[in-house]
Amino acid sequence: MRSTLTRLFFTLSHLTRTSAPLRNTCSLRSGPPPLRSSMPVIPSFLASVFGTTAASNMSSSSSYPDQRTPDQWRAVLNKEQFRILREKGTEPPGSGKFDKHYPTTGVYTCAGCHAPLYKASHKFSSGCGWPAYYDSIPGAVTRHEDRAFGMLRTEIVCSNCGGHLGHVFKGEGFPTPTDERHCVNSISLSFSPDDEPVKKKEQEETKEREDKSKV
Ligand SMILES: [Zn+2]
Repeated sequence: MRSTLTRLFFTLSHLTRTSAPLRNTCSLRSGPPPLRSSMPVIPSFLASVFGTTAASNMSSSSSYPDQRTPDQWRAVLNKEQFRILREKGTEPPGSGKFDKHYPTTGVYTCAGCHAPLYKASHKFSSGCGWPAYYDSIPGAVTRHEDRAFGMLRTEIVCSNCGGHLGHVFKGEGFPTPTDERHCVNSISLSFSPDDEPVKKKEQEETKEREDKSKV
């Protein structure tokens, strides 16, 4: 913990002395095509510096199917999972176990409630230090406006339990179908190499669509 804090303070003091290095935090490692917009990089970077203080600025929400209380969450999550999922914290960049994890099949689920969130095929290498996905399983992720630290960002949470996942950034120039980057804390995720939860959900949705089109 102490080394993390030291690093964050160093980063912060480094930031105040010079303005140049921020620009390429992400784009240096992302490969072609180069990122034209540096803005989205800064918020996630700052969020990592400020960590859990973001919690006070967030909407405490409301109507998720999984309505466990903070004490109930404490009973099933470890300290760091609770800090990030329930208090909207951010893990240090490059520290997460799924940052450089690129399976060909499988599904990333919410570490809190185990709802399927992202398919392995949604993941791409952003070079930003957090797992990046260009899309989610339909309906699995809910977006909220986040005005913490005087910035306007889009927070993403698990649609089932409201657990904080990270933020989504758009228009950074990544060669993906959506040009969106779901920047997600590894700690907010679990991984299952089994595709079944996703296949089942997709089959249900296809069936629903077919039933509707028959009417
Ligand atoms: Zn969840």
